[in-house]
Amino acid sequence: MVKSETTLTFYGGVNEIGGNKILLKDGNTKILLDFGMSFSLKRRYYSPPFLSPRSEKSLLELGILPKISGLYIFDKESADVDAVLISHGHMDHSAYISFIKREIPVYCGETTKIILQALGEIRRTDLEFNVEGIEFKTFRTGSILRVDDVEIKPIHMDHSVPGAYGFIIQTSNGTIVYTGDFRVHGIKSEMTYDFVEAAKKADPVAIITEATNMTSASASSEAELRSKLNGIVGQTEGVVLAEFASTDIDRLNSFYQAAENNGRCLVVSSKQAYLMEMLRSDSGLQVPSLDDKNIMIFRRSKPSDNGKKVIRKWEKQLMESYADKFVDCEDISNRQCKMLLSFSLYDLDQLVEVKPAPGSCYISSSSEPFNEEMEIDFERLVNWLRYYGLPRYHVHVSGHVMPFDLKNTLQNIHAARIFPVHTEDAELFAKFIRGIGSEIVHVEKGEEYLI
Ligand SMILES: [Zn+2]
Ligand SMILES: [Zn+2]
Repeated sequence: MVKSETTLTFYGGVNEIGGNKILLKDGNTKILLDFGMSFSLKRRYYSPPFLSPRSEKSLLELGILPKISGLYIFDKESADVDAVLISHGHMDHSAYISFIKREIPVYCGETTKIILQALGEIRRTDLEFNVEGIEFKTFRTGSILRVDDVEIKPIHMDHSVPGAYGFIIQTSNGTIVYTGDFRVHGIKSEMTYDFVEAAKKADPVAIITEATNMTSASASSEAELRSKLNGIVGQTEGVVLAEFASTDIDRLNSFYQAAENNGRCLVVSSKQAYLMEMLRSDSGLQVPSLDDKNIMIFRRSKPSDNGKKVIRKWEKQLMESYADKFVDCEDISNRQCKMLLSFSLYDLDQLVEVKPAPGSCYISSSSEPFNEEMEIDFERLVNWLRYYGLPRYHVHVSGHVMPFDLKNTLQNIHAARIFPVHTEDAELFAKFIRGIGSEIVHVEKGEEYLI
């Protein structure tokens, strides 16, 4: 019998940070590893909300969606992909499951399912993110998944969103390891070490690894970040405004601690509160309760033509369950020294009513490309901060592994071949990492690699 071939094709995550879309073929079995949105590619042609893709046709034409037959919901052909594995809930790895045929199962961690479904409710349904009707099959570390003859072990990873996994995939031509996004300087580095241990044991023929931080490395940890935040909040006399990714629960806990240590309440947006409420059902996570006396929910001021605003189901649910937890701009303005307000760039107009007192500050605590809020011009933020005399602190720790940690990790796992993805610096990475005894592949988009 002829042994079946195993191949890898990279449709996204090549020379870009995010947008991972990797097709693994093992004989007749086809598995997609992540199916995320490419922010860089999208930004090349679009500038939401006024210039947005109107249909999948434009996304396909521009190559933002790869041409894969038997995959999309709008395809006439029958399903020809057996499974999609999602490593974690960031949009650059997961958003485009929106477009896949609903009969194709989507495997993801239990936490990722909660996040994607909650975001599906919160975000206005749009072309590029709609998880309605998706058949999620969830796993935890210790689960073994089987897609035809391919066996997959998901193992938890430390990253800037809870519920991130790497995969150890047994194919007919050896083991392939996929890291997804990860780091070892977070609060849960032991999870990454579990993955590395298992990957090493599997003696892989190939590893697909992220290599995001080749030119923006810093040596810091979430633990250090906590002490820095504590220091800044401790010095602030007025209100503390803080911007961070709503799905980053470790960061949420870091701000929660900084608030609590300094006698302040953490005021979260209603979207964030809803996500927290949903994630509370995940026993593996530590998420502050909305009943906690140090947690409040921000009620944004309504636009003056109020009355037209539709209150969505999730919002109503939150308002009914936690009516006494809501504070508005006036409440915050009156008790500035007691408040740490989680504040998105979309909320800048609310400053007119918050009226930050002298000695207030703004803390930016994100930098990841998946954060769509980054699309709002940085200059506009600075203009608001100048107007109100708010200094801006940037206190952030990346969700991605640092160069020497990455080198150690790869040396340890010792795969025969390394496929770097999720990086704009694949060449720098190849030179930096050479000499560790693995062949480093220069990945080309759309190219099929035989394993
Ligand atoms: Zn990513
Ligand atoms: Zn990520």
